Amino acid sequence: MARLKLKEHVINREWCKGCGICVHFCPKKVLELDSSEKVVAVRPEDCICCKLCELRCPDLAIEVLTTDDVPAEKKSADDDLITDDVLADETSTDDVLTDQDDSNE
Ligand code: SF4
Ligand code: SF4
Repeated sequence: MARLKLKEHVINREWCKGCGICVHFCPKKVLELDSSEKVVAVRPEDCICCKLCELRCPDLAIEVLTTDDVPAEKKSADDDLITDDVLADETSTDDVLTDQDDSNE
């Protein structure tokens, strides 16, 4: 799998309550609280894009954008494709089972 590359940390300073959860969970010590008790990415070059900060923030105040992130519109189109594939797979499995049932009779 290709390694994700950081585009930017999007921090909503109004929503950040300075709890420090993201700072604590970041395995690379990328994040710190500033003098206003708001999170800042002080070492973005060390970020490995694990998104733990984003996943653990209770206030959705931090988002990790990577170069692989696709616009929401394209994402939903891709999801439709995946759904169609899954449906096609389910249909073909049913066919196989039906064939086997027939051969047993
Ligand atoms: S976990 Fe969220 S609210 Fe807490 S310091 Fe980090 S960004 Fe701010
Ligand atoms: S994505 Fe991972 S490495 Fe990067 S700031 Fe968040 S917790 Fe730290």
